[in-house]
Amino acid sequence: MDCLFCKIIGGEIPSAKVYEDELVYAFRDINPQAPVHVLVVPKAHIASADEITAENSAAVAAMFNAIPKLAASEGLANGYRIITNIGEDGCQSVKHMHFHILGGKKLPESMA
Ligand code: AMP
Ligand code: ZN
Repeated sequence: MDCLFCKIIGGEIPSAKVYEDELVYAFRDINPQAPVHVLVVPKAHIASADEITAENSAAVAAMFNAIPKLAASEGLANGYRIITNIGEDGCQSVKHMHFHILGGKKLPESMA
């Protein structure tokens, strides 16, 4: 499958790894929108959060298990934001589900 994030997880395309476990990989966004901008992805290809099912949701649980750990290691004790874009209206550019972890400053109140 021609998927950028599958290639990053497989090591075919380099990335700045922040966290990894059996089900989850996290790396720095190449175009950071905040002082800390990490992408958290399931190792198994799930196209978007709209594709989460009872069968694949263990990976999602693992992502949320990983996030507080990597947030702590990134120094985000004062808070942070989790965003996942879905589809055309959500402006999802990479069709492999990913959670943006944004922090390291006071983020704008507006979300849309
Ligand atoms: P989205 O627009 O929600 O699909 O987010 C895709 C994100 O992937 C964007 O924030 C990009 O900056 C980021 N991105 C694209 N290519 C790479 C790459 N090779 N390494 C790290 N981040 C990337
Ligand atoms: Zn993929």
